[in-house]
Amino acid sequence: MSTVVETRPLSPSKVHPTPPLTPPLKMDKQLKEEVPIDMDIPDNYVAWTIKNQKPLPPVTWSSLYKELNYLSLYVLTITPAIAIWGAFHVKLRWETALWSVIYYFITGLGITAGYHRLWAHRSYNASRPLQYALAMAGSGAVEGSIKWWCRGHRAHHRYTDTELDPYNAHRGFWWSHIGWMLIKPRRKPGVADVSDLSKNEIVRWQHRWYVQLIIGMGFLVPTFVAGLGWGDWAGGFFYAGAARLCFVHHSTFCVNSLAHWLGDTPFDDKHTPRDHVITALATIGEGYHNFHHQFPMDYRNAIRWYQYDPTKWFIWVCQKLGLASHLKVFPDNEVKKGQLTMQLKRLRETQEGLVFAPDVNELPIISWESFQEQSGKRALVVIGGFIHDVSSFVEEHPGGRHLIAKNIGKDATTAFFGGVYDHSNAAHNWLSMMRVGVLIGGTQHGLDDKNIPPSQRLRIARYNELGSGNASSTAVEDSEGLLG
Ligand SMILES: [Zn+2]
Ligand SMILES: [Zn+2]
Repeated sequence: MSTVVETRPLSPSKVHPTPPLTPPLKMDKQLKEEVPIDMDIPDNYVAWTIKNQKPLPPVTWSSLYKELNYLSLYVLTITPAIAIWGAFHVKLRWETALWSVIYYFITGLGITAGYHRLWAHRSYNASRPLQYALAMAGSGAVEGSIKWWCRGHRAHHRYTDTELDPYNAHRGFWWSHIGWMLIKPRRKPGVADVSDLSKNEIVRWQHRWYVQLIIGMGFLVPTFVAGLGWGDWAGGFFYAGAARLCFVHHSTFCVNSLAHWLGDTPFDDKHTPRDHVITALATIGEGYHNFHHQFPMDYRNAIRWYQYDPTKWFIWVCQKLGLASHLKVFPDNEVKKGQLTMQLKRLRETQEGLVFAPDVNELPIISWESFQEQSGKRALVVIGGFIHDVSSFVEEHPGGRHLIAKNIGKDATTAFFGGVYDHSNAAHNWLSMMRVGVLIGGTQHGLDDKNIPPSQRLRIARYNELGSGNASSTAVEDSEGLLG
């Protein structure tokens, strides 16, 4: 698919009242390529396109034969068929096995370090020799030209999980893995600019010679290396050619399927991308996909030294050799913000699953006299300005029944906080669960720690809850207000 022939979406005039920034002049091909295709899309492009551009009808069994993308179908079925035939008829030599693995990494890196991190995301600069090497290696993976691949991948990042994402993970694992290539897309991928690639000499060169390159790099090179190297022409073709290609295909397809399905979301859970070491192992290091979708222009996928990311290591080595430069890294401060947000979110879930002391605003305000009177009927004790009903706890008290019994109807604040025994945080938390009232004038210490159980001194609150009294500090202020 070529970007230069793609029609721009029509924008409804009411949502785009200002004239386009670029005059709709008749442009020659060269100039057309230099204008970013998304220059004058409407502000509500995604919603508008999904609403107004009707998708093709769903594929049914009877219409399937008309809706198949036969070129992809042949490549993705004949290749494994050749590999399986070869596995049964050609003996695998260890030299060829080793060469197949090496060539798997060479062509795989062409996609991950070249197509993906260099051209789709511009996460580093590569010298001309490295660009030619990556363009050739990537051709050996037979996944379309750089320009076509990057156009789809940029749309995937921009419209992740929507109908404009060509590999929309919400349509299921198999759709995002391979279905999107076998069946003609139901709608065009969302607009994504690749004008930078249209101007790139090496990308243009690869696009022009793509058919020759896939034959040469996909099959001739692996066959000739094994044939000329150790006389295993057939093994070179079947193992380093066909079988290796099959593995490279499904390895890189896993970035769209497995990486949006398996693992956790340490940086953001808004969309489907996930981090998992298994995906990393299957994809030459592209498995830290949650990080990648958050920080797509970072040359790394894995940020820890012990995480498996050979693509990152390769780019780093190329930098040391003077072949790559300007490796982009997102500021650690920003990366950590994402992690902190997710950690707080999970802590909040834990917090919401726990029961805390009754809200101070919901407790009755009781006078000293009333407290004393009611203490005659049940075991009430004042600690830290709150009245506690300890009836069910008197017998359980680790320090003995008598220490509580002698404080019934009294203020035991000093005794509780170190006077007799400096109670643990757990004891204070538990005590707070026995609160049944607030003593008038009892919380005069204000923000004293004695008023707030340890488990509520540090709490997670959404920004719009901070002034509502859910936070412990404001709870005390509210109680002071109530108490006048
Ligand atoms: Zn993705
Ligand atoms: Zn990407």
